[in-house]
Amino acid sequence: MKKYRVLIVEDERRIARFLQMELEHEGMNTAIEDNGRRAYERIVQENYDLVLLDVMLPDMDGFTICRKVRELSQVPIIMLTAKDDIDDKVQGLDIGADDYITKPFATPELLARMRVVLRRQESQREAKGAQEEILSVKNLTMYPARHEVQVDGAPVELTKKEYDLLEYLLRNKRNVLTRDQILSNVWDYDYMGDTNVVDVYIRYLRQKLDDRFQEKYIHTMRGVGYVIKD
Ligand code: CA
Repeated sequence: MKKYRVLIVEDERRIARFLQMELEHEGMNTAIEDNGRRAYERIVQENYDLVLLDVMLPDMDGFTICRKVRELSQVPIIMLTAKDDIDDKVQGLDIGADDYITKPFATPELLARMRVVLRRQESQREAKGAQEEILSVKNLTMYPARHEVQVDGAPVELTKKEYDLLEYLLRNKRNVLTRDQILSNVWDYDYMGDTNVVDVYIRYLRQKLDDRFQEKYIHTMRGVGYVIKD
């Protein structure tokens, strides 16, 4: 399953933390932003699958953020607001929000609405017939949309972590990645273990790829980290 990346834009820390816990519990990746202007910058620069957007925020309000984001991006946005004023709802949808939910809300309802918006986004993406993304090195091909890896056209079974690690290496092909970079991008950023886990998983990947197919995909840069290259 795809791990959705969700930005929670909310300046009430308690609510933001609560949402974060609930969404992470659902298997999503989350980040919190409490400032309107920074939120706008992050939404257009970083690649989120969905944004939960509070209306009343310091520096820039949620309606303004939504309107400005829509000039550049179709990222799904669900507005959150304390006010249940019907005018707000109309305004939220007018400016291009995908949905709108009033505080206080029940978590199952929010999750249900998020799923609707995410599904709609995916089917639109499919309908567009967008070229399927392909990542590759040598005779190895990854299809992120299908979560599949093939070598010479034959499928390779990987665990979730092995897949995530390989995807991160492929997305940074030819760039040497340090253990810390790998750890913070493939494991949760607050993972408390040591970086040995990276070496362990690199070894697993090498067993399933390099050893099995007699190819050198993953190179060790001694004292630095790892790189995947043709
Ligand atoms: Ca607020």
